[in-house]
Amino acid sequence: MDLSPIISKATVASAGETGSWRNYRPAVTADLCSKCGNCILYCPEGVISEGGDSVEIDYRFCKGCGVCKEVCEQRAIEMIPE
Ligand code: SF4
Ligand code: SF4
Repeated sequence: MDLSPIISKATVASAGETGSWRNYRPAVTADLCSKCGNCILYCPEGVISEGGDSVEIDYRFCKGCGVCKEVCEQRAIEMIPE
């Protein structure tokens, strides 16, 4: 069964600029990050990218949903109050 019409990647930053109303922000501990890419794959806003020692999050568009924290098997991401 072809699911491609049903399953699609979220539009990058579909929620618009969320920095002003986000309650929590994901913080990455670079030392724990294995660069597995799970957070990049599952972020519904598509705002995580490879960068430096770990990953980079574009906080202008991150909505603080916490999906990245949940899918990080290294526990390298924590959600901290804004
Ligand atoms: S899911 Fe966790 S370990 Fe994997 S790239 Fe993201 S922060 Fe790093
Ligand atoms: S909290 Fe994580 S998964 Fe959710 S939008 Fe921000 S970077 Fe993406």
